Amino acid sequence: MTKPVLVTGGAGYVGSHAAKALAASGYTPVTVDTLERGFPEAVQFGPLELGDIADRHFLDDVIARWQPVAVMHFAAFAYVGESVTNPGLYYRNNVMGSLSLLEAMRDHRVRHLVFSSTCAVYGVPDSVPIPETEKRQPISPYGASKLMVERMIEDFSSAYGLSAAALRYFNAAGADDEGLIGENHMPETHLIPLAIDAALGKGPALQLFGADYPTPDGTCIRDYIHVTDLADAHVRALDYLERGGATVALNLGTGTGLSVREIIAAVERGTGAEVPYSEAPRRPGDPPALFADPTRAKTLLEWQPIHSDIDTIVRTAVAWSRRRHNR
Ligand code: UDP
Repeated sequence: MTKPVLVTGGAGYVGSHAAKALAASGYTPVTVDTLERGFPEAVQFGPLELGDIADRHFLDDVIARWQPVAVMHFAAFAYVGESVTNPGLYYRNNVMGSLSLLEAMRDHRVRHLVFSSTCAVYGVPDSVPIPETEKRQPISPYGASKLMVERMIEDFSSAYGLSAAALRYFNAAGADDEGLIGENHMPETHLIPLAIDAALGKGPALQLFGADYPTPDGTCIRDYIHVTDLADAHVRALDYLERGGATVALNLGTGTGLSVREIIAAVERGTGAEVPYSEAPRRPGDPPALFADPTRAKTLLEWQPIHSDIDTIVRTAVAWSRRRHNR
């Protein structure tokens, strides 16, 4: 009998990869998803419970039936721009949904939580690389909603003995090496899939947002981390909590930043095609450089990103893109 783990948002990008990693480690990932933004075909590694974590009756029933040993919580909206124009959506869905989940965990005595957080909780950092001790001053409602959930988790840990790992991702990228699942945002706003689609002639020319940043080549620097490495860190974090580890926040990044121009060059290598692009104004709210100090995650979880060199990220993302367009 394998141990059930509730995976909220398991039909989404990172959640579905975590569900695969859980199944490979001998757990039963029970996906809880509304399928508003997730995809049923991404739920391949365990059962799907269709419903909303904000609905306590639904959640109570799911937890009572499955008796999960832990929860991995991915269910959230995650478009920074949309959160600026429609903040209520983000506070309602991300914050209220998480509160409902935390209260249900408390009431059913589910002790461990791995939470999908983000480097957006830091806002514009004082310096890079960013350690977990950097002040948390998000600059978007999306980042603020994730910070509020981190705070609620800290308070529930103190009050009720919950143990939790808040995993702050940098730029999730790439796709499952077997080609079973991958990135499927609608609309897609992320650099790597847009650059790939432009190169493959499946999408419009890329807009390069800002060529006048104070960086070596003038474009923004980000820390791209392969989704399979993220998934591995989630399972390790669960193991850490099950062994009695205390509530913690961990950066998940490689520690190395790449510029937009370096990403374009990697996509050209990976596709063998030119990426058509034009230089466009800066995107509001984009800090010039964000990359992690991932020392704490590496030490505490004995975790190493092993799929996150940019050519592996691009290779797996290209394979996924070709598969998706041929469906
Ligand atoms: N970017 C870009 N063109 C795009 C999408 C993104 O130039 O069509 C840039 C963006 O300004 C940022 C980087 O690529 O510097 C990564 O953006 P993405 O949206 O992938 O992730 P974010 O860092 O916003 O989470």
